[in-house]
Amino acid sequence: MSKDSFVDGNAAAGALLSVFSIDITDADAQCAACGNVAPVARSRVYAFEPGIVLRCAVCEHPLLRIARGTGRTWIDARGLTYLELRTP
Ligand SMILES: [Zn+2]
Repeated sequence: MSKDSFVDGNAAAGALLSVFSIDITDADAQCAACGNVAPVARSRVYAFEPGIVLRCAVCEHPLLRIARGTGRTWIDARGLTYLELRTP
């Protein structure tokens, strides 16, 4: 995979599940840059060790960054205005 290639948000399901302990791929996320609202599964995922970056499918702004180290996980969600989770 080159630095310019990406896959859809479903490819990050396992990594997101390991961080949030729930499946957030069907959660709606609002991009803080352009205001687009879309399910996390529609974001563009760039996955390079030691982490992943989910970008807005409309404007490419980074929505969520997750990096992992030994015994630690860093989450940068500044690119999101909100994340709307579906609850029973
Ligand atoms: Zn956007």
